[in-house]
Amino acid sequence: MNKKYELPRTIYATEEHQMFKETVNQYLAQHVLPNREKWEKQGYCDREAWLKAGELGLLGITLDPEYGGMGLDFTFSSLVIEEQARAGIAAPGISMHSDIVIPYIEAYGSEAIKRKYLPKCASGELIGSLGMTEPGTGSDVQAITTFAEDKGDYYLLNGSKTFITIGYTSDFTIVACKTDKRKGAKGISLIIVDSDLEGVSKGEPFAKLGLKTSDTCEIFYEDVKVPKGNLLGEEGQGFVYMMRELPRERMTIAIAAIGAVRGALELTVDYTQQRKAFKQPICAFQNTQFKVVEVASALEVTTAYVDRCTELQSRHELTAEQASIAKYYSSDMQCAMIDECLQLFGGYGFIWEYPIARMYGGARVQRIYGGTNEIMKVMIARSIFAEYFTTLRAKMKAKRAKAAQLN
Ligand SMILES: Cc1cc2nc3c(=O)[nH]c(=O)nc-3n(C[C@H](O)[C@H](O)[C@H](O)COP(=O)(O)OP(=O)(O)OC[C@H]3O[C@@H](n4cnc5c(N)ncnc54)[C@H](O)[C@@H]3O)c2cc1C
Repeated sequence: MNKKYELPRTIYATEEHQMFKETVNQYLAQHVLPNREKWEKQGYCDREAWLKAGELGLLGITLDPEYGGMGLDFTFSSLVIEEQARAGIAAPGISMHSDIVIPYIEAYGSEAIKRKYLPKCASGELIGSLGMTEPGTGSDVQAITTFAEDKGDYYLLNGSKTFITIGYTSDFTIVACKTDKRKGAKGISLIIVDSDLEGVSKGEPFAKLGLKTSDTCEIFYEDVKVPKGNLLGEEGQGFVYMMRELPRERMTIAIAAIGAVRGALELTVDYTQQRKAFKQPICAFQNTQFKVVEVASALEVTTAYVDRCTELQSRHELTAEQASIAKYYSSDMQCAMIDECLQLFGGYGFIWEYPIARMYGGARVQRIYGGTNEIMKVMIARSIFAEYFTTLRAKMKAKRAKAAQLN
């Protein structure tokens, strides 16, 4: 495929990046893609693939080498996410473990917690997941009800989490819970909960529309005694920590989106040159050419924004608004463009055996998790109309104060 239209991508410009890319693609070809069918059937990925990823330095890419990481910048994480999405396979959930869970522990864990969890996370001996969503609430994180009651030297944890990525495989989950029921956001804390503690149970992996090689499940907590030392950072600061870390999570989704469209485009260019209708290749029709040009253009323009955000994230300069734009825009683009690609496969596009069908299924959730695209727009709008919202909040506060006086 001739790619003369592509802009040079400066984020992966070094020789180190190119070598790393080769390692990632060799890993995917040898240890991941051959297992796709088996993992799809069982609904989760085998531990060997995690251990191999750890051996190759693909877990804990940005983690400090003192804790077993590679100490590289976020552009290397981005390469792994993009190449994996381009290959069209979700398992193993490297980005959840390596780019979401590990950074929470590194940033907010005590020294003892970091020493206990991080080296094994980097080697793949321990896998972590993140539990924010509950059966009763997703977008409204402040409304979570999972409660960790302070019992002196331990927390007594009760509640449940749902839709937890690699929850079934994981050895521990960072659980967002209330430590003060009277408060909203300020009552939320983050606690590491080991999966083998008494009172922790898990549902079977959900049967999903896509990403079938990677598990997603419910986790239940019933009178679980969690050591106090497993608290990340300070009590009541969980919401603040999540707001700080979510831009990175949103970037993993944006990067996966451009990787997936790149993969879909390559498959489509190949297929439309092979497949014939009316005695000519499908690519001879102007409609096919125009559709492919539209996909390539949408991908290029989005890549430029996402790359810029990736650079900013690697320097810890990315704002929440930039990450939200990258997430919602690129995942919308992914769904629309993969749909266009699938159309050019005709009936074969609907058959699971064809990678384009799996890419279509996998794309859909990108607009939902990591904060729905509607929530991204709510956040961006709040920032754009900051003046209006500040005045509104002040008016409401004054109204409440007046009502309290009258009572
Ligand atoms: C495959 C998969 C993996 C996931 N992985 C994880 C994970 O690892 N950890 C985790 O904690 N969660 C995970 N999630 C959960 C995911 O983050 C939530 O599903 C998502 O945040 C939406 O929450 P909800 O499903 O409760 O939808 P709801 O909050 O019930 O929203 C339903 C609809 O209402 C809209 N809506 C809600 N509030 C507003 C508003 N203020 N303005 C406009 N529209 C609004 C939403 O955009 C959506 O369209 C995962 C989900 C899936 C499907």
